[in-house]
Amino acid sequence: MPLLSVIIPAYNEQDNAPRCASAVSRILDSHNIDYELIFVNDGSTDRTWLRLTQLAASDDRIRAINFSRNFGKEAAIFAGLGAARGDACVLMDCDLQHPPETLLEMYNVWIKNRGEIDIVEAKKKDRGRENPVYRLFARLFYRMIGDMSGLEMRDASDFKLLDRRAVDAVLEMPERLTFFRAMSSWVGFRKAQVYFDVGKRTAGKSKFTAKVSIKYAINSITSFSSAPMQLVTVAGAVTFLIAVILGANTLYNKLTGNSEKGFPTVILLQLITSSIIMFSLGIIGYYLSKIYEEIKRRPRFIISEKLNFRDDDRNGGKCGDKHNGR
Ligand code: UDP
Ligand code: MG
Repeated sequence: MPLLSVIIPAYNEQDNAPRCASAVSRILDSHNIDYELIFVNDGSTDRTWLRLTQLAASDDRIRAINFSRNFGKEAAIFAGLGAARGDACVLMDCDLQHPPETLLEMYNVWIKNRGEIDIVEAKKKDRGRENPVYRLFARLFYRMIGDMSGLEMRDASDFKLLDRRAVDAVLEMPERLTFFRAMSSWVGFRKAQVYFDVGKRTAGKSKFTAKVSIKYAINSITSFSSAPMQLVTVAGAVTFLIAVILGANTLYNKLTGNSEKGFPTVILLQLITSSIIMFSLGIIGYYLSKIYEEIKRRPRFIISEKLNFRDDDRNGGKCGDKHNGR
């Protein structure tokens, strides 16, 4: 009987964590599926860890990892994947916006096509509940990522089932600055899709405010693609073209004797070129800072506690995952 690992990042989800655990357990139990739930407490400031301790004490299939501080959802995903022992892993949110019924559907698709299909993606059926501005940005964002990397990312979410082969492939990727959605697409393998309606958050607030989302978008694009740097080259080419045209024009005017007093043109050109240069330097600087961060080889996260992990577990240990030490 294959084991399913359900990985659930939780950041300030004291009310959602028990609800999520019971909803997922109920549905998996009723279908006699062998499973483990791995909660990753991402440095919550509320009572999430206390709740998780209680859950882990009541059921040893509920395992919990505690981060030493907030490392972000990406880090939590990778900690969960590193600790999971399942033949397949599913990532899902703690707030039940990812319906457990869809989880079951994904599991069934995987079981039926085992060895054939290694990734089952759950895609958002409609983004109806999201506000239109956010929807526009989300669409733009995934279009950009898609164009830059050649990966189909529209309506992507972190709600995915990965076969052990795909999990190991994703964990093999050594970068510190991760973008799970794109990485799980990059590794390839045959994929299947299921569709789900994004539910309402059961309790608490969304952590992805506009500011966090924009930061996340910029981080994700730059950690996955160097296309913005090519923008710099494009901008250079465009300004060069303008310069040639303007130069020819000026020369022509001079030769025909009706050259203008070109002071405003000079100022304008100065402003345009210097802003393009500064913008470009900014982009390059951003990548430099990424390289700087990456080259430090710091761990993706630091684990302070683990519950219901025995020593013979894949990564039984106190700190980090085996992929950290490299
Ligand atoms: N999350 C996390 N660390 C963070 C932010 C969020 O582990 O720094 C978790 C959060 O607990 C939830 C999931 O990521 O399980 C999705 O977060 P949220 O529901 O706030 O995002 P939204 O659904 O609004 O995009
Ligand atoms: Mg949510």
